[in-house]
Parts: sequence; structure tokens; C-alpha cells
Amino acid sequence: MELAFKEYLRLIHPAFVLESIDKPGKTVGINLALSRIKDPTIGNISISDVDHLKIRSAINLRNELVHYEFDHGIEATEAKFSEIFAFVIFFYREHLDLTPPDFIDEDDLQKILQRVKARAEMLQKARIYAKSNEGEVWLCPECNEDTFIVAEEQCCFCQRRELVSDCESCGQMVFACDVIETDSFLEWDYDEGRMTLIERYDLPATCCPECSSGITAKIEDFRRAQYYEDLAKESRR
Ligand SMILES: [Zn+2]
Ligand SMILES: [Zn+2]
Repeated sequence: MELAFKEYLRLIHPAFVLESIDKPGKTVGINLALSRIKDPTIGNISISDVDHLKIRSAINLRNELVHYEFDHGIEATEAKFSEIFAFVIFFYREHLDLTPPDFIDEDDLQKILQRVKARAEMLQKARIYAKSNEGEVWLCPECNEDTFIVAEEQCCFCQRRELVSDCESCGQMVFACDVIETDSFLEWDYDEGRMTLIERYDLPATCCPECSSGITAKIEDFRRAQYYEDLAKESRR
């Protein structure tokens, strides 16, 4: 993709491949290349918001790979890959006049297309299974498909497992990793090497992201009430 973008810029003018005209030898990174391609005065290619998101996510994926921060499952990686694959194929065709045989080995192309097809079939089956499921189905945090079966605590497409627990505040089920400890909203006192909570009020120990603003508002109310109470005590003295 990066090569395709650079080639396109080079065809407009070789200088556009350089990060800065004054620094020959250093070529543009993918982000700058992308913005030049979209720039009406340079590349003037309109890229849809959807494609733009896909490109951004492919760039992130690549950066994670380069920096060894890669922890996505195979399904999610393949999903991202097949999304960007179609974009790249058609970018070559529309803007560089190249068809797949010009830049990719025929066997490799067939293998990729088969994986893409297998993935589409898997996804279709997973969606049907999710629909037939009587319990709740959520958006999977890994593959972003509506295939996370809450009762099984697992996505039936990418197989990502994620614990589900109840929010102690509203009772709704949430991903355990999204649960917030309400302690973090409260005031702590540091005393003789120990952290002690000044006042716990009557709060549940945990809450979900949706409840968090309600909880912080409640804490504010408690604090204000306490403040006025203290003021009243003060004035009675
Ligand atoms: Zn998933
Ligand atoms: Zn809640």
C-alpha cells in the first residue's frame, strides 16, 4: 500500500515522494503520502471515510507489527487484511493502471482470495449462529462483528474470550475489563505509608462505564452536602 501511494505520487512529480524537498533521500511516510494523495492540489483522489478508516487501521496494525506490540487474534488480523486488500487491488487498477498479475504472484493471489472467501463464509455462519442465539449478543471487541455470545463469554466468529460481569451499580452485564473501581473516583489520604480512603459514601465498589458519570455526580453531591453541613456546624459554634 505504501509503495502504491508513493508510486502514484512519483508519477505526479518525483518531488512529492520526498518528505521535504530540501532533504533528498528521505521519502515520505505513509501518513504524509496519504494526505498528499487526498490533497486536491496534489493527488486529488477522493478516498471514502470508510476506506480512510481501513487504511488508518492497516497503518496501526503495521506499526504494531514493527514494534512487536502485536496481540490480535488471527481472525481479526485477517479481517483487517482482507479489508485493505480489496482497497489496494483497486487502487493499483484505477490509479496506476496495474492489474494483480502485474504485482502479485498468481498462486499467492489465489491463496489470498481463498482465505478471504473462507473468512466470509465463517462470518456468515457466525452471524447466523448469533442470530439464532436466544441470549444477548454484543459487538466483539476483537473483530468488531456482532458475534459475541454473552452467555458463552466468547465470540463465535474470532473465538475471542472475554469475561462478562454485572455492574454493581445498575445491574447491567458488561465486559469485566470495562468495569471501573469506584475507589478511583474517591479521595484518598496518604498516612504513614498507607493509603486510606477518606470517605466511601454508600457507593457500590464497581460500576460500568455508563454509570460512571452518575457515580461521579453522586460523589459531588455528597461532597457538597458535607460541605454545607460543615458550614452549618461552624456557624452554630
Ligand atoms: Zn470476535
Ligand atoms: Zn452500570
